[in-house]
Amino acid sequence: MNLEQNTFKSYNNELFNSDLFDVNLVNGNLGGIWRYHHFLPVDYKDAVTLGEGFTPLLQIELFGKQVFVKQEQLFPTGSYKDRGASVLMSYAKKIGVTHVVQDSSGNAGCSIAAYAANAGIGCDIFVPADTSSAKLAQVRAYGANLVLVDGDRQATAAAALLASQKSYYASHCYNPYFLQGTKTFAYEVCEQLGWKAPDVVVLPAGNGTLILGCYIGFKHLFDSNVITQMPKIVAVQSAHCAPLYEAWKQGLNEPVKVNSGHTLAEGIAIAEPIRGNEMISAVTKTQGVFVTVSDDEVIGALKLCSSKGFYIEPTSAATIAGLIKAQGIVEGETWVTLFSGHGLKSTEKLLAILDA
Ligand SMILES: *Cc1c(COP(=O)(O)O)cnc(C)c1O
Repeated sequence: MNLEQNTFKSYNNELFNSDLFDVNLVNGNLGGIWRYHHFLPVDYKDAVTLGEGFTPLLQIELFGKQVFVKQEQLFPTGSYKDRGASVLMSYAKKIGVTHVVQDSSGNAGCSIAAYAANAGIGCDIFVPADTSSAKLAQVRAYGANLVLVDGDRQATAAAALLASQKSYYASHCYNPYFLQGTKTFAYEVCEQLGWKAPDVVVLPAGNGTLILGCYIGFKHLFDSNVITQMPKIVAVQSAHCAPLYEAWKQGLNEPVKVNSGHTLAEGIAIAEPIRGNEMISAVTKTQGVFVTVSDDEVIGALKLCSSKGFYIEPTSAATIAGLIKAQGIVEGETWVTLFSGHGLKSTEKLLAILDA
């Protein structure tokens, strides 16, 4: 594979057919995301699947507001990244890939490692040396080759990109097949609301796998007349690393340079999101907004969720904290958000918060 092939320039390309979405072609007998296989780039019979998706959409009261919260912490590996990994690794297997590389600060690495194991595909996962131990254990347990890289997230990506010249780059950031998986979030939300679009969706904004996947999914349903409005996307960044929020505030199309400070919400602390311009464009087109949250707000949201019996990781709580910020800014009746990752992934951080 050369770099050109591996760093797919845009998700909006001819790789995927654009058949209109038809609710009669949804096959509820098939598990999870694969009920939508007519609209996925791989057929169900070629699926690499661990039973992912169709997560519950629970109505919960948060900050005095009734919101729908998709239980994305309940995926086989503990985060919604399994949507993308299932579709991407199914495609990789179908085209005969025998080895992949991928880089991640945690959850995407766990997902790719799990689906590679299931598919019988070899896999090297590059992570920054300071990644949380639960995620490292999970990657190793699946039998992946773990490569610890000294330096930050950017150094890790550079190492993986180099290695991808001799392998297949199963990147959740670059590879558009990943977004073909995450788009099922939008399909599921609309199906669970009786084939209606919510007014507002509150989503994390790191590398944008969910924001872009959602945009693709909702747009597909809208263009197919299944839904009659595009939901506004509220994109949540950490105040300690907000290259997209800053750009959006200044009316710019490209992420601005920021110094990424330390934050509890490590999963969204992406200083140079490679599809940043696509994320700004998607949010803007839906008349959505960017908001930022501080670590104190993340802790407040985390404690609120666990007081109701929901155990989520701090990055996941950042999205929930973003909800309260957005309430005064964005109008709408039906709000949807998600718990993006399971609390069991970050025991050390949660202990530190509880003991503080
Ligand atoms: C990946 C991830 C995010 C952020 O998603 P992006 O695709 O980077 O925008 C948020 N929460 C959790 C738990 C994640 O694993």
